[in-house]
Amino acid sequence: MLYLVPTPIGNLDDITYRAVRTLREVDLIACEDTRTSGILLDHYDVDTPTTAYHEHNEHDKTPHLVKRMRAGHNIAVISDAGTPGISDPGFFIARACWNAGIEVQALPGPTALIPALTASALPSDRFVFEGFLPKKKGRQTHLQSLASEPRTIVVYESPYRLVRTLDDLIEHLGPDRQAAVARELTKKFEEIERGPLPEVREYFAETENLKGEFVIVVHGAD
Ligand code: SAM
Repeated sequence: MLYLVPTPIGNLDDITYRAVRTLREVDLIACEDTRTSGILLDHYDVDTPTTAYHEHNEHDKTPHLVKRMRAGHNIAVISDAGTPGISDPGFFIARACWNAGIEVQALPGPTALIPALTASALPSDRFVFEGFLPKKKGRQTHLQSLASEPRTIVVYESPYRLVRTLDDLIEHLGPDRQAAVARELTKKFEEIERGPLPEVREYFAETENLKGEFVIVVHGAD
C-alpha cells in the first residue's frame, strides 16, 4: 500500500495523529530530503527507515518502490513540507501504483494553498491552483490565459521572483484586481498582505532582503 502523508508547512504541531501513526507503522518512508524530514521524524519519535525520493530520482526509483509494495511492503511518501503531489513529488508514484493495482491512500493534512486562500477573504467557492508559473517558456501565454479566468487564482512563488510575478500579474490582469500574498504561513513571521495588486506589489518591493515562502491569491476576472 502507498500512503501519501502531508507534513507541516512550518509549525511542527500541524500534523495529524493518523499521519504520525502511519509514519511509524510503514516499512519505509520515501522522503524528498531525508535530512529535512529527519527533524520532523525525530520530533515525533519515528524510527522507520527512510530513502531519498525527489524529482531527480523519482523516475528511476519508482519501479523499485512499486516492486516492494507488490511484495507486501507499505511505503509512505512525504515531501519537505505540505502535501505530496502538490508542487512536490507524489503524482508519479501514485499513478504507478494505480497502474500496478496497488492501493493508494492519501491522508488529508497541511498544504500552503488552502490557508492562503481562506485567509485571503477572496471568493473561495471556486478557485484554480496554478502552482509555480512557468519561469520562461510559455510564461507570457500562461499569464495571458489567466486574464479571463473567472475563478480565484492561487500561485506559489519564491522570494526571488515574487515582485517580478506580481509585476507580470498587474501587466496581464490589470491594476484593479484585489489580491493577497501570504508569507511564511504557520511560522514565526507569518503575514498576509491584502489589497489591490499594485499595493501588495509595492509593499513587498519595499521590503529589503525579502525572505520566506509565498502564496499569491488573486481575484478572478469579473
Ligand atoms: N507541497 C507543498 C504544499 O502542499 O503546499 C508545496 C511545496 S512547493 C515546493 C513550495 C512552495 O509552497 C513555496 O515556494 C511556497 O510558494 C509554498 N509554501 C510552502 N510552505 C509555505 C508557507 N509556510 N507559507 C507560504 N507559502 C508556502
